[in-house]
Amino acid sequence: MKPMRLMILPLLLIVSLACSFSVPVPAPVTQTPAALPSDPAPPASGPLLYISGTTHIESAPNSWPDPEAFLAFLEQITDLGLRWSVGADVGWLTGEPRAAEVIQKSEALGVQWDVHTHAVADRARAAALIVQFGGHPTSVVSGMLVTELDAMRQPLTYEGYTWTPRVLWGGTNCPGHRPGCDDLAAGLWYPLSADQYQVHDPRGALVRVGGGTHQLADALSLAQSIADSGHDYPVISFTLMVAPSTMKIVTSTDGIQQIEAFVEQMSAYSFVRWASIEETAQAWTEAGAIPSRIQMP
Ligand SMILES: [Zn+2]
Repeated sequence: MKPMRLMILPLLLIVSLACSFSVPVPAPVTQTPAALPSDPAPPASGPLLYISGTTHIESAPNSWPDPEAFLAFLEQITDLGLRWSVGADVGWLTGEPRAAEVIQKSEALGVQWDVHTHAVADRARAAALIVQFGGHPTSVVSGMLVTELDAMRQPLTYEGYTWTPRVLWGGTNCPGHRPGCDDLAAGLWYPLSADQYQVHDPRGALVRVGGGTHQLADALSLAQSIADSGHDYPVISFTLMVAPSTMKIVTSTDGIQQIEAFVEQMSAYSFVRWASIEETAQAWTEAGAIPSRIQMP
């Protein structure tokens, strides 16, 4: 089910409640004032687990997805109610003849386009290319070296186009997607500095969204630990990640069938929300920006 549909029922309830109370009944002046009504909507207690999904496409053509198969996968995954984003490096954006078509058709499915590049100077260029192809880049830096933090604190430009990062997804301590390099913590915070990337800065502005290990089983474990009251943060993040060449969860054999079963299992937890990486950052900010770093194996 898509988020917009979920919003319709509460909206109808609010409208009908408003209507039933809309006829004013003048009270006699001698009547003692009625007690103040209790707060109509107490703040949500306990954590919400925001689950996003993403796919990175690197510049080297040997890992590029077949456009048809990729669009079919994105249609299946969004039909399941997942909120997905893609981060494609400039090699794919400039080299894939059907890049514009893939961007436009995937956006029509609700898929978002983040900025994933390996060179700092390419980030504004990647965003500019997405715009040039009729897309709408998010404010998400989808992966970066933690040493690049300060470079992300200002608007980036490419040939007159300006792109402003607001969200940092993940963060790695060494280049090249090597084992042990990525910070696999789930949760969100404002990183203080490149040297103290894991420390929350209450005055920060760039939201770090942690994807965790990207594995279905670990997301289920995290949900169960929340159900067991293992965490009391307002907002926790986790990101599924699917490889573009195989359409399977990275470093696993889990494909669309396993993801479908996963969605079914997660629907048992009332605190699970399906949201894109950018939407997760927005929800965390609106919930008070309470840091929620959760170390994962
Ligand atoms: Zn990459």
